[in-house]
Amino acid sequence: MFDVQDLYQEVIVDHNRNPRNFGKLDPAGKILEGFNPLCGDRLTLYLNQAGDRITDLSFDGHGCAISIASASLMTEGVKGKSLQEAETIFTEFHELLTDSSQAIDLARMGKLAVLAGVRDYPSRVKCATLCWHTLRALLAGDNAPVSTE
Ligand code: ZN
Repeated sequence: MFDVQDLYQEVIVDHNRNPRNFGKLDPAGKILEGFNPLCGDRLTLYLNQAGDRITDLSFDGHGCAISIASASLMTEGVKGKSLQEAETIFTEFHELLTDSSQAIDLARMGKLAVLAGVRDYPSRVKCATLCWHTLRALLAGDNAPVSTE
């Protein structure tokens, strides 16, 4: 039997072991740090944009498998997208993780849907959304490090 949960697990393990877009961007137009004290996840995002388009995005730092895999998937998901598109992806992703009545639309969410299982573990939701909250603050021009608490 094909088990979709196993597939999700595999993608998370893969993105944790070999995170995409991992490392500093140099030069980076914007840099912001995010911290999840509950788990100890600490990420830094590096971003370049041209007009309202995210031309390059990377991250580094350390954290649990969920936080690293989520950041890796996020950078893949929003690189090349407009700010509006990134915001839409964030909103849908956040709903997916926090509203369990929401059906998981695999076609729309793409690989990000692999993190949907996290919604059964409320304490891990912050691990998965840390990078996203940091990205939003970064795009909003905040300079203060983001904390999930
Ligand atoms: Zn974590």
